[in-house]
Amino acid sequence: MSKKQFKTESKKLLDLMIHSIYTHREIFLRELISNASDAIDKRYYAAMQSGETGVDKEQFEIRLEPNKAERTLTITDNGCGMNAAELEQNLGTIAKSGTQAFRAEHENAEDIDIIGKFGVGFYAAFMVAKKVTVYSHKEGEDAAVWESEGEDGYTVKPCSYEPVGTKIVLTLKDDGDEESYGEFLEPYRLESLVKKYSDYIRYPIRMQVERSRKKEDSDEYETIVEDKTLNSRVPLWHKNKSEITKEEYAQFYRDAFHDFEEPISTLHINTEGMLSYTALLYIPKRPPFDFNSKDYKRGLKLYANGVMIMEHCEELLPEYFGFVQGLVDSPDLSLNISREMLQHDRQLSAIANNLKKKILSELLRMQREERENYETFFKAFGRTLKFGVYDKFGANKDFLKDTLLFWSRKEDKPVTLKEYVDAMPEAQKHINYAAGDTLAQVKKLPQAERVADMGYDILCLIEDVDEFALRILESYQEKPFKSVSDPDLDLNTEDEKKEMEKRAEEAKPLLTRMKNALGDKVLDVRLTDRLKSAAACLTGDEGMSVEMFKVLRSMPTGATLPITFHLELNPDHPVYAKLSTLDDEQLKEYAFLLLGQAKLIAGLPLDDPAAFTEAILKLM
Ligand code: ADP
Ligand code: MG
Repeated sequence: MSKKQFKTESKKLLDLMIHSIYTHREIFLRELISNASDAIDKRYYAAMQSGETGVDKEQFEIRLEPNKAERTLTITDNGCGMNAAELEQNLGTIAKSGTQAFRAEHENAEDIDIIGKFGVGFYAAFMVAKKVTVYSHKEGEDAAVWESEGEDGYTVKPCSYEPVGTKIVLTLKDDGDEESYGEFLEPYRLESLVKKYSDYIRYPIRMQVERSRKKEDSDEYETIVEDKTLNSRVPLWHKNKSEITKEEYAQFYRDAFHDFEEPISTLHINTEGMLSYTALLYIPKRPPFDFNSKDYKRGLKLYANGVMIMEHCEELLPEYFGFVQGLVDSPDLSLNISREMLQHDRQLSAIANNLKKKILSELLRMQREERENYETFFKAFGRTLKFGVYDKFGANKDFLKDTLLFWSRKEDKPVTLKEYVDAMPEAQKHINYAAGDTLAQVKKLPQAERVADMGYDILCLIEDVDEFALRILESYQEKPFKSVSDPDLDLNTEDEKKEMEKRAEEAKPLLTRMKNALGDKVLDVRLTDRLKSAAACLTGDEGMSVEMFKVLRSMPTGATLPITFHLELNPDHPVYAKLSTLDDEQLKEYAFLLLGQAKLIAGLPLDDPAAFTEAILKLM
């Protein structure tokens, strides 16, 4: 059988592993043990799901077997195993996000130092082995063996490996020096590596060790061989908080949730009493690659007394906190609980209720005490929170409103709603906002100029969900939200308003002529006092801003959406003075141009760009 080549991505990672510097090499064991433990989890979980009763949790184990004569280290598990296709799929290509992202971030060899810190997976074996042989047997299928000596590819063949599970044989490198990797054949060294990296693994990690014992009724000693369990098997979350280091929390996170980065925040919650449970929650730094796809599975792992009973328990996390990773362990839950039962489980919803409050207060703590971290977090997941505000007709808006950040035009940085309100001048009645596609566009919005001139800050909204979220919030600390494009901005004194009404009355014939010229391209043409240096702008109608129009129109059913905006003219602009001197033909042209440029500034496409350009050229 000919050798198959690794996929390009895998090859690069493989390279990195083979040539990694010596000090990090010991982590290969952690990676292989973590895979073995995952595989046992999978087998046990599948057995429980299918109602198989013959599976005894006590039978599971991971075994280490150093062989000095052969220079091999063998790691065996009785987990789910892999068939030939899975060996090919899982070990011939990098499938997992964590590893892939790791590779993307650390393309060049200078980053090699980072290896020790991350979960780099199966290929870590090549840091210490010149040859890796994986025998695997999946229940009810034919066994197969995968073998590779690194860079020049791998083979997959049928074999006759009997037990269900996987056996990985590492033939250690020698680098011309017999002793160079011999340390990984020393039982004491292996034991200390297990203690250091894999102590919390819940399945026993066993190894045969030699011990000398005094013979009975004699002074002689004999050497006996016995099984020793190397790990304490206490799950991390069952340990005392004070005994867990930050690094241990982070390592567990990377292993269990396949992230390659440290979490931005960790919450370890212990509750006793009516409701007793332990929760270990992590807020990731970045969204997983599939976060916005429907493949993303929200939820926490659910354990009953240290045994996992569900991988993604959605009932434990509201959708708006769907980015949180972690687990809940409760002694009071039944092992064979079904999804339907869980949905109605009072205890579970009480836990969920507690957790969401803890998550909220952790987010607000971060916002106060670690602002930079919070802004990083909000960049990654702010959108999810804003959807949470909007979703379910705003049912959770009060709960979530203080988590929000929006870009402040004045401060030129993100601010909370509270910070905005606290900085409002006495005379300002509203929380003003402007919406657009980009920050640069919003800042230059003609409507924003006068509001800003009055010394009022403006929240710049650039995500499609933003304005929907604010509209459903309605107000914050009794200050209503108001778009700078709102028909009634209410910036003027009574006298100014009267003056404006007078001018509008005088302008009526002109405005009617313009509206006739534009037909149903606008709702109407009217005067505005919101503009300063611009001649015209588009504003939305009650309940529907131009930005919302854009969002809705981009949706599949949006093409037929009727036009719902007004063209507003600045009566103090020189162009306006000119309008009344024009004949109908010229006025039509001017109206068409004013509408076109207002559309461009608002980020709307022109109906007929060629005609627009032609009209400009003609004027020039
Ligand atoms: P990850 O553990 O992040 O998925 P790895 O590179 O460590 O990435 O492993 C790749 C895949 O190979 C695993 O996802 C798993 O499907 C499979 N695998 C590795 N080791 C074992 C094992 N001992 N038993 C069963 N499957 C395994
Ligand atoms: Mg792994």
